[in-house]
Amino acid sequence: MSANSKGLLPRFSFEVLPPLKGTGTESLFRTIDTLKAFNPAHINITTHRSEYVYEEQEDGSFTRKRLRRRPGTIAVASAIMSKYDIKVIPHVVCSGFTKEDTEYMLLDLQFLGIHEVLALRGDKAKDEPRFQAVRGGHSHTTDLLRQINSFNSGTFIDGTPIKHVGEPFTFGVACYPEKHEESPNPDSDLRYLKKKQELGAQYAICQMFFDNKKYFSFVDRARKSGITIPLIPALKPMAKLSQITQVPKTFHLDIPKELADEAALCKSDEDVKRLGIEWGINQCRELIDYGVPGIHFYTMSAVDSIRQIAERIW
Ligand code: FAD
Repeated sequence: MSANSKGLLPRFSFEVLPPLKGTGTESLFRTIDTLKAFNPAHINITTHRSEYVYEEQEDGSFTRKRLRRRPGTIAVASAIMSKYDIKVIPHVVCSGFTKEDTEYMLLDLQFLGIHEVLALRGDKAKDEPRFQAVRGGHSHTTDLLRQINSFNSGTFIDGTPIKHVGEPFTFGVACYPEKHEESPNPDSDLRYLKKKQELGAQYAICQMFFDNKKYFSFVDRARKSGITIPLIPALKPMAKLSQITQVPKTFHLDIPKELADEAALCKSDEDVKRLGIEWGINQCRELIDYGVPGIHFYTMSAVDSIRQIAERIW
C-alpha cells in the first residue's frame, strides 16, 4: 500500500462502458472481477448517444441508419449493483437526449434506488462538426443540473408537481485540467465549473492527464477562483503504440516530453504497456503524496494495466 505522509490512501474507482449492442455482459463482468479486489469506492457507467451510420447497399448507394452502439446504461448499473455490492454512478448526458428522456431516466434510477449520477453534456455526434443539442434537449451541463435540481425539489419539466418526491439525486460533474477543447481559455472553463459547483455539484472527475503538474496547477487555479469541491484525478495508462499520437488528438491534452521521449523508443504495444504501467504507478504515488481525494481510472483497453498499477498502490 502507498499511503501518503499523513497515512492516507485515497479511494480507487473506475469507469466502465456498457457493452456494444448485442455483445453481452461477459467482458464487462470480467473487468469488474479483475478490479473489485481493490475495493472500489464506486463504478461509473458511461452513457452513449445514438449515431447515424451509413450502410452501403448492393447498388452502391448508402442508407442512413440510426444506431445506438452502447445502449443500456441504467440496466448495466442495476446489473452491477445486484451482482456486486459496489456503489454505481451512471452518467446522465445532454447529448442525444431530450429533457423528457432525462426525466424518465431519473424516474427509472429512482425506482432502482440509485441516487447519485455524473452529469455531463456528452460527446457530440460523430457526423456533426460541433455539439448540437437535440430538439428539446439541453445545450450544457448547467441546464441539466437545473433540471435535476427541479426534479429533486418536486417539479416535472412541464411544471406539474411530483406526487412522490423520493430521495434527492446528488451529482458530480466533469472537469478538465488541460481545459475543455471548446473553451476559449482556462479561466472561462473554470467559471463554468464554478457555476456547476453553485448548482450543487459535489465533486468533479477530471479528464485524463499524463502530467501531474497540469493537475496541480489546475487545482491551484480552481481554489483561487473559489472552487472548493473535490477535483478527482483520473488516469488511463497508455497501452498501445498508436495511443501516443491518438490520445492527444482525441482528448485534447499533452503528453509530457519525458513520457513522449520514452514512448518513442518503444518498439511494440507490449513495450508501451510496460511504460504506461510504470508511468501510472509514479503518477499515482505523486498524486497520493499531494493528498488527492481519490484516483479514478478509465478502463477501456487498459484493464490489465490498471490491475498492475492498483496491485502496487492499493
Ligand atoms: P459542459 O459543462 O456543458 O461544458 C462544455 C463546454 O462549454 C466547455 O468548454 C465549458 O467551458 C463550456 N460551458 C459550460 N457551461 C456553459 C454554459 N452554461 N454556457 C456556455 N458555455 C458553457 N461523454 C459522453 O458522451 N458520455 C459519457 O458517459 C461521458 N463521461 C465522461 C466522464 C468524465 C469524467 C469526463 C471528463 C468526460 C466524459 N464525457 C462523456 C465527455 C464529455 O461529455 C465531453 O468532454 C463534453 O464535450 C463536455 O462535457 P461537460 O459536461 O464538461 O460539458
